[in-house]
Amino acid sequence: MATYKTVESSEITLSQLMLPSHSNFSGKIHGGYLLSLMDQIAFASASKFSGSYCVTASVDRVDFLNPIEVGELVTLKASVNYVGNTSMMVGIRVDAQNIQTGIIKHCNSSYFTMIAKDESGATLPVPRLQLTSREQVMRYLKAAERISARKQRIATEPFAGDLAKALAFMASDHADVDIEALSA
Ligand code: GDP
Repeated sequence: MATYKTVESSEITLSQLMLPSHSNFSGKIHGGYLLSLMDQIAFASASKFSGSYCVTASVDRVDFLNPIEVGELVTLKASVNYVGNTSMMVGIRVDAQNIQTGIIKHCNSSYFTMIAKDESGATLPVPRLQLTSREQVMRYLKAAERISARKQRIATEPFAGDLAKALAFMASDHADVDIEALSA
């Protein structure tokens, strides 16, 4: 008998004040620091949903839409949008608020695939999803589409690995790249 769990049971919110020690040379928050927070919340959401230890299997798209300044309050929100047999796709939204003005900007949305594991490292089955809103159905279907697009991407190697064909294409469509050493 399959166990069903709601999206709500996976929801996590994490807020963190951005300190000078998190900034790079130009005073903006390091992308790597943000990625680390995203990985933490993805882990927390997937662990909460599955009730087990989880590892990150892949990260789908990380676009830094707006830079984050020192002193801003960053809020990450995460939920499980889709489940496979042992995997969960966790969606994460990152917003940053200027505490003085109250203005909030959207900084990032990413989708992490997490795998449930037992203590010995073997994969574990995860609960089935119970969807209870239109938004959850849309996010589920978007995740399913993303997964099938990724499978297609993995399956196709440009020009099926044929270097001569690849170089002919490079010469015509990417003529600004020096491939002299290869074509000689
Ligand atoms: P969407 O995926 O097209 O809805 O894009 P968004 O940028 O709005 O959100 C990205 C992901 O962050 C969503 O797919 C959710 O998994 C998660 N998320 C967004 N809003 C919330 C929220 O209010 N609470 C929680 N827990 N997660 C959220």
